Amino acid sequence: MIPVTLKTWEILDEVALERASQDAKWGEQNHPTGQLPLYRETLAQPKEAQAECEWQRDKGTMTWADIAVEELSEAVYERDDAKRRAELIQVAAVAVAWIECMDRKTGR
Ligand SMILES: [Mg+2]
Repeated sequence: MIPVTLKTWEILDEVALERASQDAKWGEQNHPTGQLPLYRETLAQPKEAQAECEWQRDKGTMTWADIAVEELSEAVYERDDAKRRAELIQVAAVAVAWIECMDRKTGR
């Protein structure tokens, strides 16, 4: 078994708290994986990514890719380190949620 450092567990604790917060806000999420559209060769600005995600959600066509791009954009474009760190925890939590959804679909 590969040892996990205390720091890794501390960060994963934060991811777990963010996951609980997501479930409290949105309930269990089961979006399709989706793909990054070909016309987006660069990462969207946060407001653009947020608007796209909301538009897709309102249409009932939101994907994990939409959510991941939004959160990643917020992290990448954030200039304040503390805020960026919080955004990266959200990126990680979305990644965990996406994996959980994939595992539910495959029965893993
Ligand atoms: Mg965010």
